[in-house]
Amino acid sequence: MFCTDIPNPIFFIFSNSVPHLLYYSHIPSAIIALLLGFFVYFKTRKENLIIGKLLLFVSVIFFIWVFFDLILWTNNDSRLIIFIWSLINLLELLVSVSTLYFSYVFLSKKDVSFKIKLFFGILLLVYIVFIPTNFNLAGFTLQDCGVQQSSLFYYYYFLETFFFIWLLGYLIKKIVTAAKEERKITILFSIGAICFLLSFSGANILASVTEKWEILQYGLFGMPVFMAFLAYLIVQYGVFNIRLVAAQALVVAMIILIGSQFFFIQNPINRTLTAITLVLIIIFGWWLVRSVKKGERQKTELAIANAKLKRVDQMKSEFISIVSHQLRTPMTGIKGYLYMLTQGDFGKLPAPVQKILVEMRENTDKLIWLIRDFLDVSQIESETLKIRIAPAKIEPVIEKAIEAITPTAKKKGLEIIFEKPKGEFPKLNIDDDKTLQIVINLIDNAIKYTEKGQITISGKINQDKKEFILSVKDTGIGIEQKEANQLFQKFVRGRKISKIYPGGRGLGLYIVKMLAEAQRGRAWVESAGRGKGSTFFVELPVA
Ligand code: ADP
Repeated sequence: MFCTDIPNPIFFIFSNSVPHLLYYSHIPSAIIALLLGFFVYFKTRKENLIIGKLLLFVSVIFFIWVFFDLILWTNNDSRLIIFIWSLINLLELLVSVSTLYFSYVFLSKKDVSFKIKLFFGILLLVYIVFIPTNFNLAGFTLQDCGVQQSSLFYYYYFLETFFFIWLLGYLIKKIVTAAKEERKITILFSIGAICFLLSFSGANILASVTEKWEILQYGLFGMPVFMAFLAYLIVQYGVFNIRLVAAQALVVAMIILIGSQFFFIQNPINRTLTAITLVLIIIFGWWLVRSVKKGERQKTELAIANAKLKRVDQMKSEFISIVSHQLRTPMTGIKGYLYMLTQGDFGKLPAPVQKILVEMRENTDKLIWLIRDFLDVSQIESETLKIRIAPAKIEPVIEKAIEAITPTAKKKGLEIIFEKPKGEFPKLNIDDDKTLQIVINLIDNAIKYTEKGQITISGKINQDKKEFILSVKDTGIGIEQKEANQLFQKFVRGRKISKIYPGGRGLGLYIVKMLAEAQRGRAWVESAGRGKGSTFFVELPVA
């Protein structure tokens, strides 16, 4: 039997007597949903993520629902309509339930427990059992091609509302408990999901209660909104990690959305305008996809180049470290013999020879320090510097440094003063070998950059008794305020400093800073300006 409401039905599509919005609301929404569902599914298939399968399920069911609904609108065969109508609400319930399931997996990042699955399964099963009975559809009216709803509809209303409230409760709970960085994603996702279910299920219920079936078409717009939110999350936050795919999906969706308007536009001007829009969208889309592709490619290339650079840098550090080790051992041997010779261990030497040997010994010392500097820098850079922190006294360390460097100071006519405290300094938590190096570097600098006067080394405990502050003060060339902090960087030397001391490398202070920080301390300098001397400070923790 055929109903009278649709006079000339052409099977399925292209009927003239259907509401204007019908195709516009149905076709793009369904295709967009299906496309994104498939995209996400294929992208997450390798990792076998349940989330991909779920989104695909939601979109396929949604797609079938839309297909069924189109049949209902465009056919007048009562048997076909009754058959489809009896099933369409089940699809709706499946969409609701799987959106709920999808939301749970998306936000909780784990599968739903078996108990809950069973509970929801039973709720649905009760519905399914009654589908082929009179409780579902009670009759058919030929005048308007409509069915007479029966008591199963109340159960359907109940289930739809129940699923929606459950989703709402779950989303609110998630938003409240989300960590700060997750909150934005959770809120955006929730808005999308609520928009979708509220408009889709809400419109269905409303249409069913009022029997104004046109309302249904507006409900469908919720799906593209939901998909748009998902697409935004994907692009903006890298959810699913498929920027490129999302851009492609977006472009294809827009093309379909605009292209589908040709189905119902009758006006030729509108047709031309739509055609122009479509061409523009294709060009824009092509450009968008291309630039996203380029961006992704550049990102990968950058990552590879970066990894290579890191490797080369590490190799360089290892190389310097090996070479420095090899150099240091023979140099220390030479230094030992020179020391013995100049001390007269092998008898008294003629004065000119003695002078040359002292010179050689001092140069050897400088060379050893230089090698040590390189070794330290390479270890700092390759993060292989070994620090052995233990409670130790600072006085012997300072004295040892002074002893090592006094000959150099004497040569320049500079006096080194160690202002010892009345009592004893407390023990510090330090690596005494590294601290020795800090003190040597600072005194060595003070000598290099001071022409006359003295170098004063002193120390004091902080007010809170947690830190010891060592200071090395000189009466030398001083430091300009604006330069002060930069000097602690690698290879940085003062302005015009090469004229005063050409042999510098700009590593001493960098090492001081890094060694101090490695011992949980810090280093800084204060100076009243050029020509007014400077004081270097190193703060180290008290044991
Ligand atoms: P280098 O002494 O080899 O140049 P450093 O890292 O030890 O390298 O020092 C960096 C720069 O800091 C020096 O070039 C110099 O300009 C400045 N500097 C360091 N110590 C002093 C000091 N005691 N007085 C004045 N300037 C200093």
